[in-house]
Amino acid sequence: MQRLNFTLDDATVELLETLSSTYYAGNKSQTVRAALESLAAHTRHMGWVITGYTTFVLDKPEACHTCGERHRKGEVLYRPVFERGAGAKALPVLPREMWLECSNCAEAGQ
Ligand SMILES: [Zn+2]
Repeated sequence: MQRLNFTLDDATVELLETLSSTYYAGNKSQTVRAALESLAAHTRHMGWVITGYTTFVLDKPEACHTCGERHRKGEVLYRPVFERGAGAKALPVLPREMWLECSNCAEAGQ
């Protein structure tokens, strides 16, 4: 934990007081934290990020998710491993579709 000191204008102080008393039992620290998390989620910097890849041997032809190159049955592609995190490319929800990358795109995406 760290104590931060910053200056807010009157209107923002009033907004903080209203929000904290309405939703967070008057706890201003919790209110600021919730506001920042909401902003991060809203600007898509918080969500699911690719933290690695596992190999995947194709049992049928598939295309690379990124470059679209076709690959045949038996070829090895890479499947992303997603974790909760922050990043410019963070996804708001986990992808439902089959997501496979060729070695070039997997390397470039890391
Ligand atoms: Zn590719």
